[in-house]
Amino acid sequence: MKACVLLHPAPIEAQPLNYAEVPVREPATGEVLIRVKCCGVCRTDLHVIEGELPPRKSPLIPGHQIVGVVEKTGSGAIRFPVGSRVGIAWLHKTDGTCAYCRSAAENLCDHPEFTGYTVDGGYAEYVTAIEQFIYAIPDKFADEQAAPLLCAGIIGFRSLRLSGIQLGGRLGLYGFGAAAHVAIQVARHWGVEVYAATRDERHQRLAMELGAKWAGDTFAEPPVKLDAAIVFAPAGEIVPAALKVLRKGGTLALGGIHMSPIPSFPYDLLYQERVVRSVANNTRQDGEDFLKVAAEIPIETRIQLFPLTEANRALNALKNDAISGAAARQAPYWYWGSAIF
Ligand SMILES: [Zn+2]
Ligand SMILES: [Zn+2]
Repeated sequence: MKACVLLHPAPIEAQPLNYAEVPVREPATGEVLIRVKCCGVCRTDLHVIEGELPPRKSPLIPGHQIVGVVEKTGSGAIRFPVGSRVGIAWLHKTDGTCAYCRSAAENLCDHPEFTGYTVDGGYAEYVTAIEQFIYAIPDKFADEQAAPLLCAGIIGFRSLRLSGIQLGGRLGLYGFGAAAHVAIQVARHWGVEVYAATRDERHQRLAMELGAKWAGDTFAEPPVKLDAAIVFAPAGEIVPAALKVLRKGGTLALGGIHMSPIPSFPYDLLYQERVVRSVANNTRQDGEDFLKVAAEIPIETRIQLFPLTEANRALNALKNDAISGAAARQAPYWYWGSAIF
């Protein structure tokens, strides 16, 4: 099969992904082999490819927002028959036995495996996955519409949950990429007022288009105090700025897997029981719950298409904010719309 293979992490400008012929893996016990229809491009892919996350496998095929069709089932795999349309997300596997797994917090598992990071992912024509960790894709969504739901969507949803935002509350979104453009649709569905702070004017316009009450620069102060906020941009200097506009007792959730150092700030910004917390991975329950809500709304994702051969270019554009929206690959084209990163 054809795949984009990473040998050594390097800046995306050096084109570290090689389009190459590699063998298709046979599905092991409990696994399915999936023919990839499309795969979203996520900022985490950039963190993996550029080495901001410590390398865990080499060579590696990245990609963890995969929509495809079951081509072959391994022994004991009976959940999805051949021909089923399924989605594969970041969480490839957990040990199922650690204290976190046993207490409904498998997202914090001590021995996790991650798609496109510790095992091969979806920048390829085929991928294998464990059937207990994949999702049925609601019929409502076209393949390329569904792909960004599998990371940007699920993580945005978990971030919303952990922000504690309530019906009718006021929510800040910092950075308006793929995750935020999905999260705002869920928040609006819940009757939440959204205040979007992003440096990119196109993203500000998109936020308004999607129902934001206010959109402005990252460091501009929204006109009201916020009950909760989520930082999706990987920039630590946003944390004190976001705390400054949070009401007493409000929660600031940090949705990224990687962030530049957070500058020191006066205790006053945190005092009055404000909470700062990170969001790490997701449970399968988050994924199932989100896909159900996503189909009810229904969520619309903005995407652009790229062919798999153009993975370096797609990631380069993502890095430089040349794209607004979620990038997704579809054989033989990559989609890339006004999705957001
Ligand atoms: Zn575990
Ligand atoms: Zn992701």
